[in-house]
Order: sequence, then structure tokens, then C-alpha cells
Amino acid sequence: MEKYIMAIDQGTTSSRALIFNHQGQIVGRAQQEIRQFYPAPGWVEHDPEEIWRSTTEVIRDALQDGEITAGQIAALGLTNQRETTIIWDQKTGKPIYNAIVWQCRRSTGICNHLKNEGYQELFKEKTGLVLDPYFSGTKVKWLLDHVEGARERAGKGELLFGTIDSWLVWKLTAGKVHLTDYTNASRTLLFNINTLKWDQELLKILNIPKEILPEVKSSSEVYGVTANGFDGQAIPIAGIAGDQQAATFGQGCFEEGMTKITYGTGGFMLMNTGSNIVRSKKGLLTTIAWGIKDRVDYALEGSIFVAGAAVQWLRDELGLIDQAADSAFFAGKVDDNNGVYLVPAFTGLGAPYWDPEARGILTGLTLGCNKNHLIRATLEALVYQSKDVLLAMVEDAGIKLRAIKVDGGAAKNDLMMQFLADLTASLVERPASIESTATGAAYLAGLATGFWTDQKELIANREIDQTFRAKMDKARQEELYRGWKQAIKTALYWTGKGV
Ligand code: ADP
Repeated sequence: MEKYIMAIDQGTTSSRALIFNHQGQIVGRAQQEIRQFYPAPGWVEHDPEEIWRSTTEVIRDALQDGEITAGQIAALGLTNQRETTIIWDQKTGKPIYNAIVWQCRRSTGICNHLKNEGYQELFKEKTGLVLDPYFSGTKVKWLLDHVEGARERAGKGELLFGTIDSWLVWKLTAGKVHLTDYTNASRTLLFNINTLKWDQELLKILNIPKEILPEVKSSSEVYGVTANGFDGQAIPIAGIAGDQQAATFGQGCFEEGMTKITYGTGGFMLMNTGSNIVRSKKGLLTTIAWGIKDRVDYALEGSIFVAGAAVQWLRDELGLIDQAADSAFFAGKVDDNNGVYLVPAFTGLGAPYWDPEARGILTGLTLGCNKNHLIRATLEALVYQSKDVLLAMVEDAGIKLRAIKVDGGAAKNDLMMQFLADLTASLVERPASIESTATGAAYLAGLATGFWTDQKELIANREIDQTFRAKMDKARQEELYRGWKQAIKTALYWTGKGV
């Protein structure tokens, strides 16, 4: 009987299950949307019970889709929306509150207070993160502060905290196992990435009892077996990583300097920095890429606020294209940007500029500029923003950029991917499967259980859809990038801070 690996990808908008065969191909899948709750401006919640229920349903449906029995699943890998926080009662299994989603801003006040107390550097040094409501720690504090009796019960060991991975493993094992992996722990603001332990000092500052915390394990080992969700079968749960890290693993970025960029609505970039913990001077995050056996790999992480969203803007607000994919066609009708630059700072500028008040601008217009130039400038803007972050990473890390692996909806754009290769003078690799995240989780589980032997075998499995090589000469590359920097300067000038 053929065996398979299942990956569960519990994301912000949906729960998914994908089944992989030995060649790394997907042979069964299912997906279910989950509801979003917005109880106040800037607040975002999920229902933990719905997350669990949808997960069991997609497991069942994926097995059905692939015509595979639960007994044929050799191991289960898990990847998840990161930072989203749940606290539940260890006896009844009931959450004490909804899940507080990573996007939720409710702990802004807590973060500001901690910053005013001068704790920013301490948190940064220990966790690699910044004091932002995004991360779990201040969400945990908020819950303990606001749910009646919660802190006291937490101190007595009656409550458990977990990110989505912990919650699902606990549910899958019928409450036997309470743990998380290094990648998820490294997003909590509570985990010391230098010592690889929960940090007593930070816990004290946030007034979080350590009894509530999950045990931290590597990203690839057998954590326990399923008691729920698989028709009574005991399937080893053997891989866990947060979504961005799983995608980086799924993309085969196993070596220092390898970088993955996901071009979705926003852009997510991670550069593997090997066993070096790189401190960023440019406002990037330092995070754990994964831990396997006794080795922990680190990464620098940066994001682009507006990536595919700029293409949506061309389509929905300006009506210049009917579908996102048409952008390549129109942009290809002109030879170059004709001097036009779009800085899509619609929600401010991120790394390495960090100006939340910046707004979008279009520069370099002449009478010869047409719609195609604007479309081209928009696609190129995604690449310029990537180059800004890549340069920051390379400077911070002092390591050489090696190959960029791309995924996400906008990575399908050939013109943009060629421009990325040209502008960064590096190889851009787009895999045939766009499921990097689930693939990464499956790989981690398959490696731990001997389904796959080693990383070499995984690389051999990888099918490449297209590789883009740099063709542009250096002078032209520099000239174009200079134009972008001018446009950025103009945008910063506009906010009144650029001069
Ligand atoms: P998310 O996971 O954030 O929803 P996806 O990975 O599904 O995003 O990618 C969707 C985004 O990619 C949209 O913002 C869309 O505008 C953009 N997009 C999709 N196809 C293309 C394309 N061929 N060229 C440029 N952008 C594209």
C-alpha cells in the first residue's frame, strides 16, 4: 500500500489539507474558508473551535479527494498562520476567548507603554523582533489582563497558551501534547532566540506565568500521534513550522544566502543566514528559520506592504486592466518605463525607509507616457521594493545573495520575474508547484519519519517551472535603480521628512 505525507496549512483565511506522494506531488487536497470577526476597529479574531472543526473536515475531504485511507498517511506536517494567539482551559479544552489574530492591533497600548519604559532594545536583542502588536506576547498579556480570573488560573497551571500549531497538536492528540516548534516560538516576543529558551525576564515584564507556555521542540521530529481526526488511526505528527518559514523550507532555501519571496497581496521575504543570528540595522526582523536535529538556522525577514495589491489597484481603482495577469501583456508593449516610477507607498513605506506617513507617488511623467508605462512602472515597483529589502539583508548579514526563489500569485508574471533577475543580477527560480508552504510542512514531517532521506532528495524532487537569468548590463541596472531612489526621495520629501 502506497504511503503519503499530509500537510495541514491552517491560514488566516482558510484551513487546508494537502496530501503528497513520495515524488513530492500533490495527490489530494481540500480547503475550507474560516470566518473573520472584527469586533472593534483594528481588532481581528477567529473562532478556535471553527479552526479545529474546519481542520478535521479538510483532513477528511483531502483523504476522500485523493482516495487515500487514513492508514496510508505515514506522517502529518503542520504549518500555520503565525502569531495568532489562543488560551484554553487545560481540563475542558474550552478557549477562554476567541483567537486573537496576528493582524489585530488591540495590544498597541501595551506596546507603546513598553516602548516608553525603554524596553524596545531588550526585546529586540532577545527575540529579534520589535515591540509591535503583531506578535503574540502582548496579545497573551491582553488576554490575561482582560479575561476575568485568567492570570490567576494561568498561574495555577489551569490554562494553556498556544499559537495555532500548539492548539491543533493539542486537539489532534486529544490533549496529550502541549508544544510548539522553534519557528512559532520565535514569533511570540517571549522566546529568547540566543538561548533557545522562554525568557524569564521578558515573561516577568509582561506578567505572564510560565506554567501557561508550551514546550518548545525542533521543527522536524515525532511530537506525538493523532488520537482525533484520522478515523482512530495513530498518525505521527512529525513537522511544524510557521507559514513563512515552511514556505522557505519548501522552496529549498537550505543554504546561507538563499532567499524566498512570496508575492501575494503583500510580499514576504526571508533570507537564510545559516547559524548566524544577524542583528538588523535596517529594521528587519531576526527570526528562526527552522530547527532540525541539533541545528538551528536563522533568517532575516522583511516584508513589502504593497505587492500584488498595487496590481489590484490598477485593475479595481484605475480600471487599466481587466485581470491581474493582463499586466504583463500591457507592460510588454513598451520597451521600458520611459522614466516613469510609481512608489506604491499606499500604506506608508516599510524597510529600509520606515515612514508610516508616506503615501504613493507617480513621478517622471512626460507627454509621451501612456497607460502601458504606468502598468510597467507598477510591476517594476514590486521589484524595486524587493531590491531595497534584499540590499538591506545583504548589508545586515554581510553574506552574498544566492538565488531567489519566488512564489505567490504575482510571481506568475514573467516580465516582472525577468526584471527581478535583471535588477538583482541573480538567478530567480520559480517552482512548478506554488504550494511552497504546505510542501515545507510535508518535507519537515517526511524527513523526521524517514519518508524522505535527506535534503538532497527533496531538492531532486523539486520541479522548476522557469528560471530567470540576469541579462541587463550593469550600467543600465544602476541607472534604473538610481531613478527609483530619486522617486523614493521625492516620496519622503512629500511627507516633510525627506530633506
Ligand atoms: P494572497 O495569498 O495574498 O491572497 P496570492 O498569492 O493569491 O495572494 O496572489 C494574489 C495577488 O497577486 C493579487 O494581489 C493579484 O493582484 C496579484 N497577481 C495575480 N496574478 C498576477 C500576475 N500575473 N501579475 C501580477 N500580479 C498578479
